[in-house]
Amino acid sequence: MLELRNKHFEIGGIPALDICQEFDTPLYVYDTAKMEAQYKRITKAFKGSKLKINYACKALTNINVLRFFKSLGAGLDTVSIQEVQLGLKAGFEAGDIIYTPNGVSFDEIVKAVDLGVRINIDNLSILERFGARYGNSYPVCVRMNPHIMAGGNSKISVGHIDSKFGISIHQRRHLERLVKSLDIKVEGVHMHTGSDILDVDTFLKGAELLFDVAHDFKDLQYIDFGSGFKVPYKPGDIATDIEELGSKMTKMFNDFCAEYGRELEIEFEPGKFLVSESGTFFCKVNGLKQTTATVFAQVDTGMNHLIRPMFYDAYHHIENVSNPEGHKRVYSVVGYICETDTFANDRQITEVKEGDVLGFRNAGAYCFTMANNYNSRFKPAEVLVHKGKAQLITRRQNLEDLTANQVEIDW
Ligand SMILES: *Cc1c(COP(=O)(O)O)cnc(C)c1O
Repeated sequence: MLELRNKHFEIGGIPALDICQEFDTPLYVYDTAKMEAQYKRITKAFKGSKLKINYACKALTNINVLRFFKSLGAGLDTVSIQEVQLGLKAGFEAGDIIYTPNGVSFDEIVKAVDLGVRINIDNLSILERFGARYGNSYPVCVRMNPHIMAGGNSKISVGHIDSKFGISIHQRRHLERLVKSLDIKVEGVHMHTGSDILDVDTFLKGAELLFDVAHDFKDLQYIDFGSGFKVPYKPGDIATDIEELGSKMTKMFNDFCAEYGRELEIEFEPGKFLVSESGTFFCKVNGLKQTTATVFAQVDTGMNHLIRPMFYDAYHHIENVSNPEGHKRVYSVVGYICETDTFANDRQITEVKEGDVLGFRNAGAYCFTMANNYNSRFKPAEVLVHKGKAQLITRRQNLEDLTANQVEIDW
């Protein structure tokens, strides 16, 4: 269940309105205590196995957040060579970074090898090229697609039959042939089926298939089960029962290791689960507009700053931080972009006045990292609350930033 804050909206013990006053809106604010609590839920649930958590940093890429997860003992899951480079810059050891590209050029994979990070390959033709070049001199992980249908939006569901991700388990024989012929050293097997695992048993079915494939390889160090851990966005949402998953999977994994003959590492790469709930996005109400059909609450932000509601039909709980105890009224909350950018339709929010601050919950994952400069608006600033202190971690942009990469030509 989503726990609804009331009365005084605080982040890490600091009143949200004070933070907004100091740093202005629109503003992303993250709470490290919540990140840590989520991290510990996983470590506790899987304490019976040798566990490694790699933070999927595309969810929230700020270098301070990367360093925070490093301080907790996490590795890093990356999906571009730039994320790899950011991870190294943040201080991660190359061996603690796993690079899981999809559809990138072979040059980018060579670059990752040169940087010494772990590589996860999800395409047989790339694996063949990799094997021809490196043989058994550089180990790889193979990303399998078990074709387990996880729930959620089709854009974020990656395990289905039409998916571009992973090596199909039906290509297992071909995979085995390539590995043998080219003497490829497979150190890990991997799956990542999608972003919303609603029931543990579906996940375990995928895991079962992966264990089966794992027996094909003798040099394994780890099995990586990706992510898909769901957190609640709206009251009544079902979330992944991490404790149930932990107890069932630990047993399965340990049984597998006993059969395999060696203790392996069990790995996960959550993004959303670790950071979604840590974040709140604050904006201000520019105006109210009564039409024949509804009352619009128009805010000082739009799809340029938080695109999930428009792009994925995502629900973000919205609270009126300035007036937490007023009567609830029905609003359509809309952005200021010259395009229809609706955050919420027919949403009950305590009475809204011009100038009120609204808070969007679950704004830690895939929010700021998807922000852009459409309509030539500045991106929001970001603040991290850590041990009772709110600190700026991304400054607000200015006009120079907007043209920084533009080249003025001579006419
Ligand atoms: C995006 C991604 C993740 C993280 O997914 P979440 O739903 O945010 O936990 C993990 N692994 C890979 C390979 C990804 O692409």
